Amino acid sequence: MALIVQKYGGSSVADAESIKRVAKRIVDTRRGGHDVVVAVSAMGDTTDELLDLAAQVAPIPAPRELDLLLSSGERISMALLAMAIHSMGFEARSFTGSQAGMMTDGTHGAARIVDVEPSRVREALDEGAIVIVAGFQGINRDSQDITTLGRGGSDTTAVALAAALGADVCEIYSDVDGVFTADPRVVPRARKLSHVSSEEMLELAANGAKVLYIRAVEYARRHGVRIHARSTFSSSEGTWVLGGARLAELAAEGDQMEEPIVAGVATDLSQAKITIIGVPDIPGKAAEIFKIVAKSGANVDMIVQNVSAAATGRTDISFTLPKTDAAAALRALAAEQADVGFESLVHDDQIGKLSVVGAGMRSHSGVSATLFEALSAAGVNIEMISTSEIRISVVVRGDELVEAARVVHTAYGLDGGDDATVYAGSGR
Ligand code: ASP
Ligand code: MG
Repeated sequence: MALIVQKYGGSSVADAESIKRVAKRIVDTRRGGHDVVVAVSAMGDTTDELLDLAAQVAPIPAPRELDLLLSSGERISMALLAMAIHSMGFEARSFTGSQAGMMTDGTHGAARIVDVEPSRVREALDEGAIVIVAGFQGINRDSQDITTLGRGGSDTTAVALAAALGADVCEIYSDVDGVFTADPRVVPRARKLSHVSSEEMLELAANGAKVLYIRAVEYARRHGVRIHARSTFSSSEGTWVLGGARLAELAAEGDQMEEPIVAGVATDLSQAKITIIGVPDIPGKAAEIFKIVAKSGANVDMIVQNVSAAATGRTDISFTLPKTDAAAALRALAAEQADVGFESLVHDDQIGKLSVVGAGMRSHSGVSATLFEALSAAGVNIEMISTSEIRISVVVRGDELVEAARVVHTAYGLDGGDDATVYAGSGR
């Protein structure tokens, strides 16, 4: 008998019928002889609707109250799910995040889990109940106020529960079949991965893959939780996200073929590029600029500085950041233009970022050459490049991103035989 933690996203519990379908799936797992703990998201677009409502009564809603409001979405789905399970003749008990012992810091809207004390969850399991926990929320021990973990936080709830309870697996259910070599809506030839290492998954999630949330993957890696990402709408195996050491073991046992050099291609249209033109090419300017940008709250990703034209003693610096951070960063930079001494600012929100991720890059050469050749053959111009140990990212024109992703996917031999099944899913 195993202890299984399952997480169901908002699209899996969007209405009464879906809640009943999920209840049946949970009951089936229980019938298989397993203990089951479920973390559930708010129904459908509830969180967005609550955010809209808050914006209608207050331009900047008080963070404490906003968290209370948003946490109610998951309370609705948890209670309904427990009722549905009850009516199928099984004992089920639902708990809010705080009842389940999810202790967080005090950062409203983006709280971090600092401790999990699931004594009530354990008691309920011992008494034979299926446990349903409201995702995405916790309580701050000092203030005793309710907090939320940030958008998509239910994945983290599930992984944190799995870690604290020592669960055998954390199954994350959404409306897609697992982790693919690319977003199947962008690259129809994408294939489902049977396994992916947590470090590769982190890079894919950080660079646009939406199927799993980065903080949940991070938490899982730190605590050794095995994630199985799969679909609510089918019973087929999804994708296992495992630590590199476990994957190496599996490979040694012959369960898996040799690790491919590239695991997947991620695309991201959510970034903008800011170019600061005519920055004096003297020590300290980059520090000044990025201090200003950081103070505006922007999260900088790639940075490129051009060689200065010797005659002018000036250089251009470009960086990328989330589109939603661009206005604040531009305002902050413009306010300091005279002090920093740059000439002008250019804002470009028509960029696309393409990333190729694979642990095999560490030990293989020529991986970036393949990328650049594929893009050049397709006539796609590269505007920026950045790399990590297991990732190469390029910025291209946004309207060329789809074409770029397809040719690169083909160039690395990732194409599957048939087009992937897409249930028009959001991955949530
Ligand atoms: N309901 C929250 C959101 O939509 C949390 C989640 O779905 O994981 O972001
Ligand atoms: Mg949601």
